[in-house]
Amino acid sequence: MSSLAYLADVPVDRVKGLAGKRAAALRKGGITSVTDLLLHAPRRYIDRSRVTPIAKAPLGEEVTVVAEVTSASTRRPRRNLIITDVYVTDGSATMKVVFFNQAFRERQLPPGTEVALSGRVETFRGKRQMKSPAVDTLGKESLVTGRVVPVHPTVGGIPPWVMRSAVHNALSRARPIDDPIPADVRERHRFVDRDTAFALLHFPDTVEEADEARRRLVFDELFRLEVALALTKQKMVDEAVGITHDAPGDLVGRFLDGLPFTLTGAQKRVIDEIHADMRTVHPMHRLLLGEVGSGKTIVAIAALLLAVEGGYQGAVMAPTEVLATQHFLSVEAMLQEASLSPGDDTLFSTASSGPAVHLALLTSSHAEVNFRPAGSTTRDQLIEEIAAGNVDIVVGTHALIQEGVQFANLGAAVVDEQHRFGVHQRVSLREKASSAEPDLLIMTATPIPRTLSMTLYGDLDVSVIDEMPPGRPSVETVALPPERMDVAYERVREQAAVGRQTFVVCPLVEDSPKVEAASATAEFERLRGVFPDLRLGLLHGQMRPAEKADVMEQFRRGDLDVLVSTTVIEVGIDIPNSTVMIIEDADRFGLSQLHQLRGRLSRHTGPNWCYLVADPGTDEGRERIDAMVRTDDGFELAEVDLAIRGQGTVFGAKQSGLSDLRLADILRDQDLLIAARREAFRLVTEDPGLQDHPDIADEVRVLLGDAVAWLFVS
Ligand code: ADP
Ligand code: MG
Repeated sequence: MSSLAYLADVPVDRVKGLAGKRAAALRKGGITSVTDLLLHAPRRYIDRSRVTPIAKAPLGEEVTVVAEVTSASTRRPRRNLIITDVYVTDGSATMKVVFFNQAFRERQLPPGTEVALSGRVETFRGKRQMKSPAVDTLGKESLVTGRVVPVHPTVGGIPPWVMRSAVHNALSRARPIDDPIPADVRERHRFVDRDTAFALLHFPDTVEEADEARRRLVFDELFRLEVALALTKQKMVDEAVGITHDAPGDLVGRFLDGLPFTLTGAQKRVIDEIHADMRTVHPMHRLLLGEVGSGKTIVAIAALLLAVEGGYQGAVMAPTEVLATQHFLSVEAMLQEASLSPGDDTLFSTASSGPAVHLALLTSSHAEVNFRPAGSTTRDQLIEEIAAGNVDIVVGTHALIQEGVQFANLGAAVVDEQHRFGVHQRVSLREKASSAEPDLLIMTATPIPRTLSMTLYGDLDVSVIDEMPPGRPSVETVALPPERMDVAYERVREQAAVGRQTFVVCPLVEDSPKVEAASATAEFERLRGVFPDLRLGLLHGQMRPAEKADVMEQFRRGDLDVLVSTTVIEVGIDIPNSTVMIIEDADRFGLSQLHQLRGRLSRHTGPNWCYLVADPGTDEGRERIDAMVRTDDGFELAEVDLAIRGQGTVFGAKQSGLSDLRLADILRDQDLLIAARREAFRLVTEDPGLQDHPDIADEVRVLLGDAVAWLFVS
């Protein structure tokens, strides 16, 4: 018997047929151990029973034939054209296969190679031929005699038939493979045992068997992931001791009553969920999902005020200084509405007779408080006041609050608009807490499909604001080819004439903020020529924080008609007076980014226009623009995004080892994901330390590696 954890320690070069160079090539492709090799599933199966003899192939219909190559040659009838002619035979007939500009085919298909060709058979001068079919080389040797031939993905140039025989050798040495999944779980889902599953994944007798095998092994993979998440949750929440926030006062009530509107049902429900969580002794680790404009800020403040009421401090962490500043201003305005602002203490104002909330802003360049006149607070002074407990709520950037500042008594923290706030950051925040662990609320305006929140954020509790405040018009979204920019410019002039403002978002330059800044600057100059009589401002990531804040302030005050900007405006910036947004090269932005950007507009109650300027060079780009024009439902867009990009990129953005899903596709395998999650959480509840399931613990630790290592230190 061998276990996956054990085989994960056996290097691939120990497999017959894979010594030396081949093992090195595999390692480069991420296959280092026998376990990796066994998890390298065939990319497709060729079912010989469904293969068509060449002689019987109906003309013009899609068929698969399996045949042997008899000759292959390449010619160049003219410049820029390479034709490779391959002759094949399957005993029933001979056929010519033609490839255009695929010179490698001659090398790929030497005489004697057995090959599966999928395409349409046609006749040319009375002879059968196939043009540019899909090709799967089957190799020259055994193992392809069965009814179903597995085609393993090529890694590091190693052809499928070598992979196939290597997997075969590995399997025959490794089997029988141990099955650590409890019998009752297997029975509930009618799974084949793991040993059979590996055998049938690689060498099935029928395609149905391969499906069964895959289903079982996908479950296992998702189960390992969900066990890791369940253990994370157990460590971070269930076993951790936090603060019981149960102050009896009415600070939260006073705040909510002071708002100039009533909460939506969703806001009320979510505040209740959060408060209930905060009242327990376990620290909260909760994700708050809500579209741009759904009113998350109020929910966040309602959470923090429960802590403040009990004598604790609260923190709001924003990803950028601009956003932090904006949060500070809007929270200050809300506190004033509710008469909870201390006002200017130096004036000994009599207005603030009731309880007052001391609020502060701390960025790398700037400090501000709501209890002294603007501009009269230094950073050093504020840092001391926070440490002394004289400030109730601190708004700042992630970096500042995580690293720089000592709190007297941090009771709750809100992380805004952040996908990067992973387990590691949470662990470090917890280590920072002086005594008990603060409650944590992570807010995001990026709607996340359920499948993703169950994986990426599977150890968090989730609250969703699924209702928008009333009276929000949707934005009219228009796709424009670059030569029709005049349509958008006309709108800009029309809106500027009635005192409204425009955002122009400049093309994204991946990985080069410098180039991006330069191109935004050039575009700014160009637009000054287009709009000589309008007031234009420029905002990009290379400007100093003070400069940025200055430009934002001008735009906010209405001193600018047009703000030309890079995506620094993406997250959360709120200018209710803006009605037009022009996004240049819109096809190059991701969908969630486009949605975020457009969301900057929808806060205004009149009509809004979003122009997506693009001449999409790729299908994906076109699909994204079409989706944007079609809908403004963020969850729908998120699903589209996941479907277009695939999970690889989505996970790739997160630097966690949880990205290594090799078999599972969380879109296609949603049902298995839900099942795996339920079973994993059940197991961890019943057997918290996995004492009775050491083999499962081993497997999770070994296969998920560094990302979960911390779970297993006692
Ligand atoms: P988010 O952070 O979710 O994008 P905000 O909390 O910034 O959204 O709220 C967006 C705007 O909607 C703010 O101007 C806020 O005052 C307003 N708002 C929030 N909740 C409501 C509500 N229930 N009714 C009306 N307006 C609301
Ligand atoms: Mg927000």
